[in-house]
Amino acid sequence: MRPRFNIFAALLDLISPPRCAVCKEPSKELICASCREEIPFIQGATCRYCGKPTLRIVARCRDCRGKHLYFNWAVSVWRYSGVGKDIIHALKYENERRLAPLLAREAIKKLPPTEIFDYITWVPLHRVKKSNRGYDQSEIIAQEIAAVGGMAAKKIVLRNRKTLEQNKLALSQRRTNVNGAFKINGSADINGKNILIIDDVYTTGATINECCRAIRAGGALRVGVLTLARALRE
Ligand SMILES: [Zn+2]
Ligand SMILES: [Zn+2]
Repeated sequence: MRPRFNIFAALLDLISPPRCAVCKEPSKELICASCREEIPFIQGATCRYCGKPTLRIVARCRDCRGKHLYFNWAVSVWRYSGVGKDIIHALKYENERRLAPLLAREAIKKLPPTEIFDYITWVPLHRVKKSNRGYDQSEIIAQEIAAVGGMAAKKIVLRNRKTLEQNKLALSQRRTNVNGAFKINGSADINGKNILIIDDVYTTGATINECCRAIRAGGALRVGVLTLARALRE
């Protein structure tokens, strides 16, 4: 069948032309060429443990040395700065859910090829926040990664209680804020399993580490962390 000219789509384009999901400039691409060029992808040396960009490859960086971390490894796709920050903002606060498949395709490239995951899960938003926003950005990214990678997405972690926003707290308060904030979904059988957990931004790692603590306490054998962005503290 010959594709028909769709007058409604053409009119809609005229009234509101397609825009870049990040900078909102007119663009046929979901992320325009100039935003795409400026995504601060993490390339080169990183801490082998937590994925932080470093001057040379290290087994443990200053941030994770001497800390009790419950995950086996962590990686991030880009730095939380410039366009890297704008993408997260669009995904979280501007309802740009259409970014999820594209971001998931970038994220999946970072996964260690040697890992075989039983389940992929995410750091859950508090239910009030999720219902205000209409969606949980980490959940939709996890679902997309699962779909692209042929993995099983499963809700494993639940929030025990509401926590204060980590980014509004001093670094020293963040661990206490999330301490005991998560529990394991009773129906999720994770005993002896290898779990991949997704979050949007890794800052101090306090939230994700607390989730991983719950996952390990639930019997998981391994847990790996994949975040879209990595905030650098200095
Ligand atoms: Zn743009
Ligand atoms: Zn590190």
